[in-house]
Amino acid sequence: MKCPFCGYNDSKVLDTRPTDEGYTIRRRRECLKCQKRFTTYEKIEQSPVMVIKKDGNRQAFDREKIIKGMIKSCEKRPVSADKIEEAVNNIEKKIENSMRREITSLEIGEMVMNELKDLDEVSYVRFASVYREFKDLQSFVDELESFVKKKN
Ligand SMILES: [Zn+2]
Repeated sequence: MKCPFCGYNDSKVLDTRPTDEGYTIRRRRECLKCQKRFTTYEKIEQSPVMVIKKDGNRQAFDREKIIKGMIKSCEKRPVSADKIEEAVNNIEKKIENSMRREITSLEIGEMVMNELKDLDEVSYVRFASVYREFKDLQSFVDELESFVKKKN
């Protein structure tokens, strides 16, 4: 949190206390550079992360959608529902940790591929082929080759 007086990036917390019946945390901070004090409030984020689609439209992040996409790719493969759930949890955590309010559908697709890579090769290739919309057989083969190389 930037100091409002000198703009320095680091401060120490002197005091933390819940307000608003615990829905807000108030922190008294001291700038490590100019030693002036200021207060910050931490609130629970209510608005969902927005996903920017290829056509530029935005949609609230929907984990069910990702799960459905993954289930489709893992059809008749030895990937349990638990594993899929876990993968989506990882993806959600990554987005949360990035602290971003918006993310592109492309980035989500890449994250799904990363998870599938570790789960099941066939599912991964299925997902990648739909997702990357391979224009021709060669680009599909290239992807497969680079995948196999990474594995070995
Ligand atoms: Zn300062």
